[in-house]
Amino acid sequence: MDIAYFNGTFMPRDEIRISPDDRGFLFAEGIYEVVRWYQGFFFEMDGHMARMKRSLRETLISWPEEDKFPVIARELVKLNHLANSQALVYLQVTRGAASRTHAFPSPPVGPTTYAFAREFTPENAGRESGVAITVKEDIRWARCDIKSIALLPNTLGFQDAVSNGFFECAFVRNGLITECSHSNIFFVQKGIVYTHPESENILSGITRKNFIKLARREGIPVKEEAIALKKLSKVQEIFITNTSGEITPVVRVDNFEIGGGVPGPVTRMLRERFNDQICSYKHS
Ligand code: PMP
Repeated sequence: MDIAYFNGTFMPRDEIRISPDDRGFLFAEGIYEVVRWYQGFFFEMDGHMARMKRSLRETLISWPEEDKFPVIARELVKLNHLANSQALVYLQVTRGAASRTHAFPSPPVGPTTYAFAREFTPENAGRESGVAITVKEDIRWARCDIKSIALLPNTLGFQDAVSNGFFECAFVRNGLITECSHSNIFFVQKGIVYTHPESENILSGITRKNFIKLARREGIPVKEEAIALKKLSKVQEIFITNTSGEITPVVRVDNFEIGGGVPGPVTRMLRERFNDQICSYKHS
């Protein structure tokens, strides 16, 4: 039986009852966070915590228990017997339930908090051979830096990508590639790694930050500059990053082959450095 966390209590997931007046349900007014458990530790919990707190602040949602998230996450792993597994912990916090009106509840109500842990099997085939992605206009709002649960443009884009046999969907705003539906995107051109700068047009991925650090540590210059879609023919490698997929090589963008259709040396090296990092965490 799955045990989840709901408003301060650990309980069977299928016994959770959420009000139809919840502002997450009515207005998509909430934030979320996803952390990965590597058979003994959470990777970059501090980074996820900082981003979660920032998302709460930016959406004016108050969760007095926010500092307890690492303890909650660990307890979910334990209660669901996932300590020796690969797992993901998902957390969502909404503004809570109140009679529907655009104004915030007055007096304020407590937030609705929900978290679960789920076993996760990394998908290795695509990460070895590389994947194909498609490109779509970025129709999202102007605060993509907030990890909001309002993800309709992301799910529409991703579903369309998957329906057409693609692994991910990259978004383009004003001719520049911003990020993907649920990952950040990097380009390698003449030995330099490029990725869109932190801004209101992308989510600042925890994995993105880590790969920037890993590349610089290896002496590879990283420029936080966006790449124009029309300059794609100039890049030798592309990779995408996120918490669950770590680093995935991209070998085709729509019909355009990248790097001869095989993962390039920078992507492969960064993946190895990431694996080393996970091993060193395990043994520390
Ligand atoms: N961009 C978007 C839009 C995302 O949804 C995600 C995944 N949460 C990312 C980037 C990657 O973020 P992270 O590396 O923190 O998983």
